[in-house]
Amino acid sequence: MSEAYLLYENDPVYQMAVKQLKDAAKLLGLPDDYVEVLRHPERLIQVRIPVRMDDGSIKVFLGWRSQHNSALGPYKGGIRYREDVRPGEVVALSMWMTWKNSLAGIPYGGGKGGIRVNPKQLSPRELEELSRKYFAALAKNVGPDVDIPAPDVYTNPQTMAWYFDEYSKIAGYNAWGVVTAKPPELGGLNARVVSTGYGTALTAREAAKRWIGGVEGKTVAIQGFGNVGQYAAKYLKEWGAIIVAVSDSKGGVYNPNGLDVEKLIEVKKKTRSVINYEGEGVKKITNEELLELPVDILIPAATEDVITSKNVENIKAKVISEGANGPTTPEADEVLHKKGVIVVPDILANAGGVTMSWIEWSHNRMGCWLEDDEALERLDRIMTRNFNRVFDEWQKKYSDHPMRAAAYAIAVDRVVRAMKLRGWL
Ligand code: NAD
Repeated sequence: MSEAYLLYENDPVYQMAVKQLKDAAKLLGLPDDYVEVLRHPERLIQVRIPVRMDDGSIKVFLGWRSQHNSALGPYKGGIRYREDVRPGEVVALSMWMTWKNSLAGIPYGGGKGGIRVNPKQLSPRELEELSRKYFAALAKNVGPDVDIPAPDVYTNPQTMAWYFDEYSKIAGYNAWGVVTAKPPELGGLNARVVSTGYGTALTAREAAKRWIGGVEGKTVAIQGFGNVGQYAAKYLKEWGAIIVAVSDSKGGVYNPNGLDVEKLIEVKKKTRSVINYEGEGVKKITNEELLELPVDILIPAATEDVITSKNVENIKAKVISEGANGPTTPEADEVLHKKGVIVVPDILANAGGVTMSWIEWSHNRMGCWLEDDEALERLDRIMTRNFNRVFDEWQKKYSDHPMRAAAYAIAVDRVVRAMKLRGWL
């Protein structure tokens, strides 16, 4: 093992990503040396960022960008600001982005970045200086045709505006395509904010069509009522489903006859929690109870590892669409598969955001802006096609396994085929 690998080799999140790659490789019959190539990023950049703090002192922050694979196109993935960001996490997330983008059928490879910082402890000026200097340090290794970052945990359209401006100054032109999820004034799309939740709702709708006869009249429980959960609820309701339960970190509410989604959004906005929603027949429930409700469709849209070997036997939904990243453990996934539950895996069900980013980027590159309704129509077409393609291949080739295994196999296979065609393998 070389020194450089030690940066991330022992990280448990990285090891989980490698295990998933190995499982997919086994299913595809790929040789071990392909795995050896794919389990490492093509490039891992580490930068030290000195920031002049408001008290006059200089503080140095550490940042990374992992560029996992570029066989299908420029690296693409978010940048997060968190105190516990580390190389192993960033490398693992960049590998997942390679598979997610491959599965989404968009011309992108995978990347991910982060800065080890608690952004809440910085003033707005310090945060801007940190963001600009981080991006300037990456400038030679990013670009509209090279690597296209986007927001992630604690970064947002304002951060993207700073990145865009910093890069454009260095490049000497307005490089609209260097980042996505920009503010609309700088070539971003308003539709970006709804896109992940919309995509999760779309995959739930398509899975319901293939598994339980459609969403109309079907009951839905949603764990997590943030960006993803709220828009998944809004669109599923529009398509005729009945949202019977939602929750957030404080707990949940349940009414078997249905909840008013508009009112839920208002209550969450005003009081910061859905537990303050009141009405006839409304019961307060815990997050654990929500997952086990007698519903047709379950949308985990909060956090990881919530469907586990402890509660999987009590899950009653027939369709699960993973808005959150990693909500189902591998053991629970197997049990659900044996019980005849379809679990649309996160890399397919929450790809709406990155797919919308591609729609934004491709219009930026053509020099034209797109209306929101057109953008959503395109997202619907792309995700509906992708879901059905994966579903059919799963049923044809991999039906002994959960849908997740098929999704990973299809994603890895596409990257490997591109690498072979290019002469990289
Ligand atoms: P968010 O911060 O807007 O909302 C998260 C919601 O989950 C909040 O309502 C919060 O109260 C609730 N929550 C947090 N911990 C909880 C717990 N233990 N039990 C129940 N509820 C809890 O976040 P988001 O953008 O909606 O993201 C949700 C999930 O979707 C995350 O796993 C995220 O990684 C994933 N995701 C988001 C996007 C995106 O574009 N927003 C894209 C891909 C994946």
